[in-house]
Amino acid sequence: MTHDPLLAARAASLHDLSARRLADAAAVSVLEQAVSQRRWWLLQWADGAAFVAGLVAQDLQDTLFDHGVRWPRCTACEQTAEHSLSLEPALDPAPRWVCSESGIDVAPLGELR
Ligand SMILES: [Zn+2]
Repeated sequence: MTHDPLLAARAASLHDLSARRLADAAAVSVLEQAVSQRRWWLLQWADGAAFVAGLVAQDLQDTLFDHGVRWPRCTACEQTAEHSLSLEPALDPAPRWVCSESGIDVAPLGELR
């Protein structure tokens, strides 16, 4: 593990993008932007280091969604309409991907399959 919370944040999101085969150049570039924006944010609020992995993932999720990419899609429940997993709790050192429809707890951030 690294001591730079932003490198850890980047690694967790990159893993979860790769797990869903979405780690293409465009998505990785969105991830890099999210990381660099949060680097500025951490300078303002050093205590945010514990939460930054979840925030980077949420920034990435929001921006990808704006670009028409749903990540990560839920494959855990029986709901057929396409929907996303969300990170819960929102501000937590160890957030988990949870199905927003069924509440199924799918995986910790950085450990999607
Ligand atoms: Zn679901």
